[in-house]
Amino acid sequence: MIIVMKSKANQQELDNVINWIESVGYEAHVSKGVERTIIGAIGDERGKVVLKSAENMPGVEKVMPILQPYKLASREAKDGNTVIKVGNVEIGGPEFVVIAGPCAVESEEQLMEAASVVKNAGASMLRGGAFKPRTSPYSFQGMEEEGLKLLAQTREKTGLPIVTEVMSSSQVELVESYADVLQVGARNVQNFALLKAVGHAKKPVLLKRGMMTTLEELLMSAEYIMASGNDHVILCERGIRTFETAMRNTLDISAVPVLKEKTHLPVIVDPSHAIGQWRFVLPLAKAAVAVGADGLLIEVHPHPEQALCDGAQSLKPEKFSKLMDEIESIAKIVRKGYA
Ligand code: PEP
Ligand code: MN
Repeated sequence: MIIVMKSKANQQELDNVINWIESVGYEAHVSKGVERTIIGAIGDERGKVVLKSAENMPGVEKVMPILQPYKLASREAKDGNTVIKVGNVEIGGPEFVVIAGPCAVESEEQLMEAASVVKNAGASMLRGGAFKPRTSPYSFQGMEEEGLKLLAQTREKTGLPIVTEVMSSSQVELVESYADVLQVGARNVQNFALLKAVGHAKKPVLLKRGMMTTLEELLMSAEYIMASGNDHVILCERGIRTFETAMRNTLDISAVPVLKEKTHLPVIVDPSHAIGQWRFVLPLAKAAVAVGADGLLIEVHPHPEQALCDGAQSLKPEKFSKLMDEIESIAKIVRKGYA
């Protein structure tokens, strides 16, 4: 259920309602919007009748059920969009945010080169995997903690916040101690133990849609993270499996406006993993900006032909600069309404 406070409700009235919600066995998730405060009362659905009586409390405007199975992630649970701050970068606000870098951290030189390329072209965060979810156990699995150290070192040198993947709940503490944003990959989108673990973390989570995940399932996965206490979730469309074999996956561009209607969370697009071939990354990136995504996740490698992972879809430095130039004018038009 959601409890919508009156716009003039004071802090004492809000505290009373929160205490009362907790006293009847629910968790209160408070969302303070510009206009008013909304409280999500999360718990056993059978208590609807009890919660409805909050309507008689001072400062309460109305009590309504949240119809979707995802509650905290639902648009109804919040006034306005969630804007997630990572260093000086804000995702979900007026700025269009580009996160770029290699698929995997391979060496100090490779990472530093990639970081300066993406920074100079205008990206605002650096990506790079230290723990890699590979289809084959014989493929490069990532540099692990050594890779995390290189990422942190590169952040010190460039000022770019770091996005990197965490593959299991036992790794969360370690990855969180180095990263600025914890990535949960497509293959782990329904690893509920991991979702709960990153839900207890203090860093934002970039949650990728699985190849076989419906949007409702994706939102339920976000709900796991939020229900564990972490409201800072960035959703990422990265292509799904369809009957089409001409590309690695099929970018579900329609996921963006549909998700934006259903949730207040930021939505970004990863065209690199969706298409799997570098020459199609630019047109898909443009489509993602045009359709209203809040940002992009792009694989860039200084020497894609030498990449240990995903070289075929990685952009060379000059192609990435071209992409940044070309999306700028589209972003200006599309995001005008935010300013
Ligand atoms: C990645 O971002 O490098 C990655 C492995 O992506 P996904 O989980 O979408 O396959
Ligand atoms: Mn990759």
